[in-house]
Amino acid sequence: MTKSKNLFLGLLFAIASVNLYAEKDIKPDKKEKEAETAEKDTSVFKLQKEVENSVFIENFDDIDNFDISSLEGYNEFDPTFDYYGIWDTISVNPYKIDLTKKKDTTLITLNDHHDCDYAHPFDGKVTSRFGPRGRYRYHYGIDIDLETGDSVRCAFEGTVRISRKSSTFGYVVMVRHKNGLETIYAHLSKLEVKIGDHVEAGDLLGLGGNTGRSRGSHLHFEVRYKGMAINPESLIKFEEGKLVGNTLLVDKSAFDYYHAYNKYKGKSHYYVIRKGDTLGRIAQRNRVTVRQLCRLNGITPKTTLRIGRKLRLM
Ligand SMILES: [Zn+2]
Repeated sequence: MTKSKNLFLGLLFAIASVNLYAEKDIKPDKKEKEAETAEKDTSVFKLQKEVENSVFIENFDDIDNFDISSLEGYNEFDPTFDYYGIWDTISVNPYKIDLTKKKDTTLITLNDHHDCDYAHPFDGKVTSRFGPRGRYRYHYGIDIDLETGDSVRCAFEGTVRISRKSSTFGYVVMVRHKNGLETIYAHLSKLEVKIGDHVEAGDLLGLGGNTGRSRGSHLHFEVRYKGMAINPESLIKFEEGKLVGNTLLVDKSAFDYYHAYNKYKGKSHYYVIRKGDTLGRIAQRNRVTVRQLCRLNGITPKTTLRIGRKLRLM
């Protein structure tokens, strides 16, 4: 009797937390759309589109008719599932929560000297940090130099949520941690874990590589909280391969970068042609190529530039 009763209670609890989650945190509005557009720039959202059979539960009303236990990798006794409510093995951010409006502060335990611990994913030189990349892209992680075949290890204990190939991230692993964070390990040459695997801090997730949209072998590492990236350097000292502290406080200021980026982005997507402009000069000034301008605007290098016409830049 206990097995089926536990199963029933677990399921009930999962449903209850999903509903709670839906009421409290999910506010579909304009910002959400903007956030989605911003995400598209790093092609993170492509992950969602390019593979069919996503297990993301789109409509919360359907939860009663949905057998949550049929989801790949789902385990109703794992506490990490209740924390998030949604289990998705395709999308990096299926939650779609605007954390720039987060009202409270969440305390995340990174190391309690007992059953919660940190391991450095790969000890290598940081080659690119979290922040704007060029004019229209945002780098949501940190790049660590490695050789193809090097071991990439899990930062904290958790459950593998994504383990697959994507056109942008290449072979990628995403782990949902017990502490409430999720981490991404991209451009791997080989996956060493499957969806639903329980992993400890320091466990081998895959081998480093140069797959997906990557120039040269490196590890792209991201830390996310409820779908949105936070600067990995706010919790990890990469030069030492250690934590900054044993806890991390997450409030809306961790997502300030989003406002700044969106404001900037919205204004600079189009260019209005002025007197004396040439395609070459517009391209140079906006750090795009003439070819890109032509492709985006359906023109050729010979098209006459009409003053006042808006040209798409991205
Ligand atoms: Zn990167």
